[in-house]
Amino acid sequence: MSVLSVQDPEVAKAIGRDERRLVDELVLIASENYASAAVREATGSVLTNKYAEGYPGRRYYAGTENVDRVEILAQERAKELFGADHVNVQPHSGSQANMAAYFAILEPGDVVLGMRLDQGGHLTHGSPVNFSGRFYDFASYGVERETELIDFAEVESLAKELKPKIIVCGATAYPRTIDFERFKEIADEAGAVLVADIAHIAGLIVGGVHPSPIPYADIVTTTTHKTLRGPRGAMIMCKEEYRRKIDSAVFPRMQGGPMMHVIAAKAVAFKEALQPEFKIYARTIVENARTLSDALSKRGLRIVSGGTDNHLMLVDLTPLGITGKVAQDGLRETGIITNKNAIPFDQEKPMVTSGLRLGTPALSSREMGIHEMETVAGFIMEGLSAIDDSARLSNLRRRIAEFARQYPAPGVTDAQR
Ligand SMILES: *Cc1c(COP(=O)(O)O)cnc(C)c1O
Repeated sequence: MSVLSVQDPEVAKAIGRDERRLVDELVLIASENYASAAVREATGSVLTNKYAEGYPGRRYYAGTENVDRVEILAQERAKELFGADHVNVQPHSGSQANMAAYFAILEPGDVVLGMRLDQGGHLTHGSPVNFSGRFYDFASYGVERETELIDFAEVESLAKELKPKIIVCGATAYPRTIDFERFKEIADEAGAVLVADIAHIAGLIVGGVHPSPIPYADIVTTTTHKTLRGPRGAMIMCKEEYRRKIDSAVFPRMQGGPMMHVIAAKAVAFKEALQPEFKIYARTIVENARTLSDALSKRGLRIVSGGTDNHLMLVDLTPLGITGKVAQDGLRETGIITNKNAIPFDQEKPMVTSGLRLGTPALSSREMGIHEMETVAGFIMEGLSAIDDSARLSNLRRRIAEFARQYPAPGVTDAQR
């Protein structure tokens, strides 16, 4: 019996059920992963108790010698992983990392160029419902209709015409390699600061299976919980000349006390990512995505842009005559966890959509490989073809749970309880 289950059985029960879910289901959400037992232990540590406003050696509170050590470890490891000049490991989330990058460079009302939300960009890249779209004057680039690849002619002409202060590149639902060098050329021509948001692909970059923005971008933001497989949180890397601006944008301008328990867990995750096995993990993610995409396309689905270079793919469901929402909800009944997602030039509303986003980071963490991806593709097709037949869906659910249980769930099946 854990302390929690005695003291708060309601919360303990919900957590226990989620542990079960993470073992029995197939997580295909491209932004989710399984943090290791060590990462979870650090996240649950006593460092949650400590106030440490400021930076190592320059804190506003006493008693910070241990958290100073932890933050320095996180910084050093992150710099080694990415080869960055400077890193700030304090942002609480990816959205806050982007907010700090904007605070460091922009005044309210300044012009920024980012990727359209409905073609792969993130809310913080200028959506009108987000602070970014409300505080700043965002313009958007998208993908070419034919190829469904980033339309660099559009990026270039908008940059020339609008002279944005920042160009943001990086995406949340884009299945292809991002050409950071090309973005930097365009940013330089327009006199813009280049911000690369690598929230999704950070682990692939560390693993050497996606080009790094570090040689090109002035500022790089990333989450730590997606392909990087750390705790929920984020960090910012930048060239030396932006060090002071970034640090003061994070604290005191945007945040108060840093979450030292999470920073400790970031340090642990960075150490894991520095091991040679992490490179194999990153390669597996990409191989698995390619295999899953090919397998689905062989079975008749249309994959946006014809495939994938990274960890995710967008499936166009219009040929099947079902929406993203119907597919997401139906597959959910079988234990296949996905998210509906707009495809380029989608005719459906954002809460409905015509697409499904599928990613392989979480399944790859469970040591599934290309053979398993063929099986998973079969399950997905079966689920989609039985989408309104609850008897068939629940039968499939049993078979999927049986299959999924054979694979270890890091941080769940190996955690000391
Ligand atoms: C996930 C994501 C973010 C935001 O991260 P949160 O931690 O959810 O705030 C920002 N940018 C991109 C491109 C993302 O994919």
